[in-house]
Amino acid sequence: MTRALVTGGSGFIGSYLCDRLVKDGVSVVCVDNFVTSSKENVGHIDSANFTLIERDVSEGLKGIKGPFDYVLHFASPASPPDYLRMPIETLLVNSAGTHVALKLAHENNAVFLLASTSEVYGDPEQHPQTEGYWGNVNTIGPRGCYDEAKRYAEAAVMAYHREYGLAIRIVRIFNTFGPRMRPHDGRAVSNFVVQALSGDDITVYGDGSQTRSFCYATDLVDGILKLLRSDVTVPVNIGNPNELTILGLAEMVIAYTGSKSRIVFEPLPEDDPKVRRPDISRAKEKLGWEPKISFEDGLKKTIEYYKTLLAEQKITR
Ligand code: UDP
Repeated sequence: MTRALVTGGSGFIGSYLCDRLVKDGVSVVCVDNFVTSSKENVGHIDSANFTLIERDVSEGLKGIKGPFDYVLHFASPASPPDYLRMPIETLLVNSAGTHVALKLAHENNAVFLLASTSEVYGDPEQHPQTEGYWGNVNTIGPRGCYDEAKRYAEAAVMAYHREYGLAIRIVRIFNTFGPRMRPHDGRAVSNFVVQALSGDDITVYGDGSQTRSFCYATDLVDGILKLLRSDVTVPVNIGNPNELTILGLAEMVIAYTGSKSRIVFEPLPEDDPKVRRPDISRAKEKLGWEPKISFEDGLKKTIEYYKTLLAEQKITR
């Protein structure tokens, strides 16, 4: 039986990954310290092939027994308010934590997959972003703890690949949304939908002219699994090129929820990227992958999810 270790497996994206792996007949060990995730995200996975272990991967994975065919490193705070609150933990999980996970993959002769990010491109001067673009990151700015940590993680992965011939995959994940993103995650989609459904003001940072391109979570995971099962060792952008301004997103959320909320403008966070859109030519060509779920359909499912949480009083203010 194929066995996988997923760090950060009970996080937003990690939980979708565990779902799919277990469904595909893979035995999964999920390691998480729940700093930005919850046990509930994987609570529905009722299978003898799924094990959840509470552990901070930065502190080591001693006692976790292989063999493993895959090691997928997804543990890291990823929402700006989280990594701004936990800059050192973010640096550690992507540096020390990446070494721990790489070492385990090496010992087990496993395929290692790193969850990297579009943030390696920083505030990009190339648009849309191809994998060949080296990025524009302010190392000493507040986002440096995440952006630069992920850039370091990519370098570490390449070093293990060159030094030991480790089989590696690097996915650069663009903005993702969908059910299970924490209501107070702090991202644009979750904030706007929860604000709209609660009748609160919708907080657009800056003038809302900055852009992002949002991919539905199951589409993303589909692309990640195609990459895992390929032999592609160069980084691959996985995201939906459907680009929206943040003000446009706020207006769409109001229209889809039928909310009476007002849009209010708040200061733009420091170094907030002005544009972001993946060039997915590589994913299309090498993996035969492209997103299938339209932003509109994904948004409807996401609105239903938060509506249910609100009805069950699972969202506190
Ligand atoms: N944003 C916003 N209001 C919010 C949350 C985010 O205007 O309540 C903006 C944020 O400044 C950024 C964009 O929406 O320009 C996407 O932010 P998010 O945190 O979702 O993702 P990331 O910054 O990681 O791309």
